[in-house]
Amino acid sequence: MSGEWGKNPREGHDEIDKGIESIRRIFSQGQGRVKRVIDKAGEYWQQAQATPTPHQAVAAEEQRIRQLVDLWSNENWRVAKDLGTYMDLVSYNTDEVWEITLQTRWETRSMESVTEPYTGRSKAAKGQPEPLLPVWDYELPLVTGLKAPPSRTRLEGLDETIACTNCNGSGRALCAVCTGRGWIVCPECKGRIKKRCATCRGRGYVADWTHGEKKPFFRRQAENMANSVGERVADVFEDIRQQGVPIPNLVDTDPASKGPTIPCPDCVNGEVDCTCSNGKRVCTACEGARMALCAHCAGTGKLMRHRELARRFDLRTQTRIIGESSIPQQHLAKAVGEIVYSAEVTEPLYPQAPPEGVPMDVWGVTVDLLKAESQQKLSNERPDSPLSGSLATLQVLELLRVPYTKVQYRYSDQDYVLYIYDSEGREKLYAEHFPARWDRVERLVLAISNDLLTPTPEEESPNSSHTKSYHAPADTPPYTISEEEDT
Ligand SMILES: [Zn+2]
Ligand SMILES: [Zn+2]
Ligand SMILES: [Zn+2]
Ligand SMILES: [Zn+2]
Repeated sequence: MSGEWGKNPREGHDEIDKGIESIRRIFSQGQGRVKRVIDKAGEYWQQAQATPTPHQAVAAEEQRIRQLVDLWSNENWRVAKDLGTYMDLVSYNTDEVWEITLQTRWETRSMESVTEPYTGRSKAAKGQPEPLLPVWDYELPLVTGLKAPPSRTRLEGLDETIACTNCNGSGRALCAVCTGRGWIVCPECKGRIKKRCATCRGRGYVADWTHGEKKPFFRRQAENMANSVGERVADVFEDIRQQGVPIPNLVDTDPASKGPTIPCPDCVNGEVDCTCSNGKRVCTACEGARMALCAHCAGTGKLMRHRELARRFDLRTQTRIIGESSIPQQHLAKAVGEIVYSAEVTEPLYPQAPPEGVPMDVWGVTVDLLKAESQQKLSNERPDSPLSGSLATLQVLELLRVPYTKVQYRYSDQDYVLYIYDSEGREKLYAEHFPARWDRVERLVLAISNDLLTPTPEEESPNSSHTKSYHAPADTPPYTISEEEDT
């Protein structure tokens, strides 16, 4: 109420800045004054909140705008509270943008030869084989849907019998197991000729059972069984260790830890001669003959070759937005809009004949978009093109209308613009700038006041008590908030 603080929120805002400054300056001069300043500030906030006068909507459209803006400001804590009710509507006008989406399914075909061993029964047609046609001359099953999986079709009447090049038609080739050597490296000793002794498990000594106390027969049997189980487990661990995995032996089967031992009667230092005697074994696949049946032709010396048409489908989507608005494209892209036209393109479209409800200029751009896609098609048909062999086999066109209302308004002597867009019931709001909510400023000032009233050790030092070291608050709230500023 007092002239010192003013009634106008805009003016008041400047006063707050000064107020914060005062709080800072006064802090060093005694807490009593700080309290008075904050009380005064609180008084001001209440006035600031009450300053705008609510407006009664006159037209239905105005009522709609005010309701939507109120909804928006209630959901967005950064926007001035009940903005729709308190803003001064300067003007509003409706317009629309159009979103054209053209989806093209490109089909790529390629001819592939597939060979398999000759089965003795020729599938080739009697007489002359069918001629090989260009890939697009074949009638293939109809594929529906914009997204389709790849597929292959075997072409009948194109089978031919050819000689196997792997075995030069002999049906026999070098054995694949021994690569034609007739022998393989002995798997038991890995070519070392010697292998680990099974009796002492490579230790070179065994337990001396003649020593020690005599055990009853059944107990001895039980111990032997436990030992043999333990050794089997130990063998598994040993195998794993030999494959390079460093694991400890969890089963202690070393007889040396249980009593006296004697040298192993079956080996020298834990190793015995391998039965292979030379580190090699005869190849069991070819029995040493070095040659085996050719795997390519299964020994027939002949191959069956047939042709398959491989088809692949790629979807390409193009989108154009037509119409002037300051609403960024990424916001418009989220609009649901209303579908005015949606159809598969089955015949040429003419710019002079737009479908019902589609404006002439929008339709013109649509036809151009289709034309550009056809150019792509023509260049694909040239054999040197990387996409050669691709054709647009399905095109779906969708035209969306996104209505919007541009609203110009004033709030606290400031001009603002906002956009309400998308179809009824799905309205969204976009504004580059909007008035900030007073609560936010209030919260900030309260936070600063709290900081000031709770002195940190640094602030208590005599140096900082000089008023000359004053700095403007770093986070002074902007009167108007920009959309870019995200908190
Ligand atoms: Zn041994
Ligand atoms: Zn061996
Ligand atoms: Zn072999
Ligand atoms: Zn062969």
